[in-house]
Amino acid sequence: MDVIVGGGVAGLSVAWRLARAGRPITVVDPAPASGASHAAAGMLAPVSEVTFTEEPLLRLGAASLARWPAFAAELAADAGLSSPRELGYRADGTLDVAFSADDLAALDETAGFMEKLGLRVERLTGRECRRLEPMLAPSVRGGLLARDDAWVDPRRVTAALLTALERLGVAVVRARVRELVRDETGVRGVRLGAGDGGPAGDGGPEVRHGGAGAPEGRASRGGPYPAEFGAERVVLAAGAWSGGLAPVPVRPVKGQIMRLRSPEPLLGRCVRGMVHGQPVYLVPRGDGELVVGATQEELGFDTRVTAGGLYELLRDARELVPGVTELEVADVVAGLRPGTPDNLPLIGPGGEPGLFLATGHHRGGVLLAPLTAAILLSETDAPPGPDGLVAEDLVALCSPGRFA
Ligand code: FAD
Repeated sequence: MDVIVGGGVAGLSVAWRLARAGRPITVVDPAPASGASHAAAGMLAPVSEVTFTEEPLLRLGAASLARWPAFAAELAADAGLSSPRELGYRADGTLDVAFSADDLAALDETAGFMEKLGLRVERLTGRECRRLEPMLAPSVRGGLLARDDAWVDPRRVTAALLTALERLGVAVVRARVRELVRDETGVRGVRLGAGDGGPAGDGGPEVRHGGAGAPEGRASRGGPYPAEFGAERVVLAAGAWSGGLAPVPVRPVKGQIMRLRSPEPLLGRCVRGMVHGQPVYLVPRGDGELVVGATQEELGFDTRVTAGGLYELLRDARELVPGVTELEVADVVAGLRPGTPDNLPLIGPGGEPGLFLATGHHRGGVLLAPLTAAILLSETDAPPGPDGLVAEDLVALCSPGRFA
């Protein structure tokens, strides 16, 4: 059996693809889909918040974006949904807008990189931008339309992954992994936190995530569980908390984000821009929800939503689309992105026999989900999934061995 530690978009995607490839899988997470994946906007945009100095990340993002249509279609089918649109999947592009000559020059440079990656981009005048998105501010001077960009609703994606896993008979154990179990040959399983497991018949007391920086989650349920799970392979996919279980260079990067609601969708596509030197984006959902994100803060395991964070988001979003201040606030949340020193993910063998990593996705874990699952399939010698093999140079970019 393979045990996946962590049921965010990374762990659940890997679990789903491995289970589909015929592997016996167990997922362990006290509160699946409650971490960064719950906060994420869901942009499938390789250039999102990425500067063009991060070309390796752009290449990973472009490769994963190309896998998303098939990934979404198969996930929708496995979860019993009528179409990928039920995952909030839309492929209507991103409009990056500029307010100044400097912004326009930066967009030009970005366009060059995107074209080099084979992504279709179109430079637009301010008037053309407003023709596409009439709610844009009159001060927008120009923009860049990335036609291939898409987006999903990550909450729907993780819910669909959980349904698909249930339909495949995969157990999702609502418990916290306290430590990895090792013997002289390497990692051989996981031990659950005190009270999360215990002998059959002993459900143990209700347990919330504990310990420094562990996520606040729902109480564990669904037990009793054994205190340990043996595993042929353990895949560590615990997001920002991965460093608590193995020596991996992952740190939490806080992001505050808000969801607004309007009777009619305000925008037809994702819109983003630089305001006061900070990136801000707006992601529309078909049901009138508009996601405004996101702050980037190095504050450790702090998930407080602050007045200052929300103020900055709204102030900057209003510069792009003045009408946002009229909308109802539906939800505000702070999530912890799993950041790495070079902003690239850690996917593949974890430096000890039996341990694999699927973590460190930082700002792009939703975008990178199909690529992550495809790499893990090949690195664990599972038959290649419908996505096929990943190019060796991309696998190497994600290799945890680069920090060995
Ligand atoms: P998480 O979703 O955090 O999941 C980790 C899981 O591990 C949690 O469910 C947790 O309960 C579990 N866990 C922790 N400790 C243990 C333990 N000891 N035992 C068992 N389980 C444990 N990405 C994009 O691609 N596009 C976007 O538009 C985007 N927008 C974002 C906006 C914000 C505000 C934030 C915060 C992030 C955004 N991201 C975006 C990044 C994306 O959310 C992350 O890269 C991605 O969710 C990481 O997924 P994960 O599964 O690794 O981590």
